[in-house]
Amino acid sequence: MKGLYVHVPFCVSKCAYCDFYSVAGRLDLIPSYLDAVLAEARRHAGLSFETLYLGGGTPSLLEAGGLRQLMEGLGRSFDLSRVTEATIEVNPESASGECLRAALETGFRRVSIGVQSLSDAELRSVGRAHNALQAAEAVSRAAELGFGDVSADAMVGLPGQRSVGPTLQRLVSLGVSHVSLYCLSLEPGTPLALHPPGGLPSEDEQADLFEGARAWLEDLGFVHYEISNFCRPGRECRHNVNYWRGGEYLGLGPSGASHLGGRRWRNPADLDAYLGHPGAAVEEMEELGPGEKAAEEAMLRLRLLCEGLAADDMVERFGPEAMKGVLARLDALTADGLLVRDGSRYRLPPGRVLTCNPILARVLA
Ligand code: SF4
Repeated sequence: MKGLYVHVPFCVSKCAYCDFYSVAGRLDLIPSYLDAVLAEARRHAGLSFETLYLGGGTPSLLEAGGLRQLMEGLGRSFDLSRVTEATIEVNPESASGECLRAALETGFRRVSIGVQSLSDAELRSVGRAHNALQAAEAVSRAAELGFGDVSADAMVGLPGQRSVGPTLQRLVSLGVSHVSLYCLSLEPGTPLALHPPGGLPSEDEQADLFEGARAWLEDLGFVHYEISNFCRPGRECRHNVNYWRGGEYLGLGPSGASHLGGRRWRNPADLDAYLGHPGAAVEEMEELGPGEKAAEEAMLRLRLLCEGLAADDMVERFGPEAMKGVLARLDALTADGLLVRDGSRYRLPPGRVLTCNPILARVLA
């Protein structure tokens, strides 16, 4: 399976915690960006995809006209007739009815909304550009307009946060079928890390908040299917599941990452450079050997908490030699109580979800 990702690197302002690649206040560059991303698409013309994900940044800043131009251009370069899931990320302050209707008209049926919280104080504390009312209105607007799946991002560990429950309960009552739950972290160089606000929950408090949120969502009928993702049964994000299954994808736009034909590469996270030479100067071009590829896929598959990793299937695809080291490491982790094994299937135990990074690192080497 192949997924197409397009990175839209524009935001109205920069959130205090954000270390994603995006630029604030340069919306005048959107027309040049659209020309550049379509030029990059032409370099890969003829490919066919099963999922499409327009992420950012803030894709809703493209507005209806930009969205139509982008989708028509992508349709000229690629075969999108087999796309079974098309997702657009939007932020509440720019998720107008016109923009959402244009997204529906151009084939998007799944929308992911950067809500983060339905508390004005929590939103203000990390410099989000929207308030709780705008976020709730964006969610109901998307549900009413007829998106088949409405997903919301919510944050755990915001300054002064006592529970994520009220935000989650309201989101579910407004119609979301999928929630991405992210823990706030102080990323080096961000304003939040440089000037941490008062009221930040400790690590233990953040873990309790996450556990509370998970309990709320499970009580509301959601499945915890990936470390940070919950959904109504059967409503997983197929585009992201393809990443976690080690599938192929093409990433267009500045900072877009690709994994195609056994090679991986990434576009520079630099809008000006990208506009000059769209997709021409790639970074981190890598060709993985079978052992490395198997280890990486094993590490990604363990993120899928229900599905886990079926070792017999991987041995069949990669061969026993490439899987030898991976299997030895999986067995050692199981012996240490850090993974659970059921037949040839390995999974992360629920109690290890928030502390899984060292476990996943051990799968790699
Ligand atoms: S809206 Fe998203 S991408 Fe933009 S600055 Fe905020 S967190 Fe970063």
